[in-house]
Amino acid sequence: MAYQELKNPIKSKCMVCKYPIIKDQSNRKYCVDCKKLQEKALKKRWQKEHYVKRYKVRICLLCSTLFNTNVSRKRYCTKACQSKAKKIRVMEEQIIRWQEKVQDLRMGK
Ligand SMILES: [Zn+2]
Ligand SMILES: [Zn+2]
Repeated sequence: MAYQELKNPIKSKCMVCKYPIIKDQSNRKYCVDCKKLQEKALKKRWQKEHYVKRYKVRICLLCSTLFNTNVSRKRYCTKACQSKAKKIRVMEEQIIRWQEKVQDLRMGK
């Protein structure tokens, strides 16, 4: 029996599909196909976690509230803050335009 075991050193089965696998390397738990799938899934999960971590907590540019997001472009905590910020931006542009007009008047144009 010892000889037989040596010739066919199948000591484990794939954890997913139960296909017999040769434990020539340490900690082999999956057959070749399942290992590939497993690695793919792990990579996907890692990317997802990495992505979420990257954009996890932000500070609203308007009200300074901390908020969670995975959208990299998001700068405001709520839609209300976003639209308010937009209004402010428009008003600021108007102020600049009015200042320019005042400047023109002063310069005698
Ligand atoms: Zn398998
Ligand atoms: Zn906000």
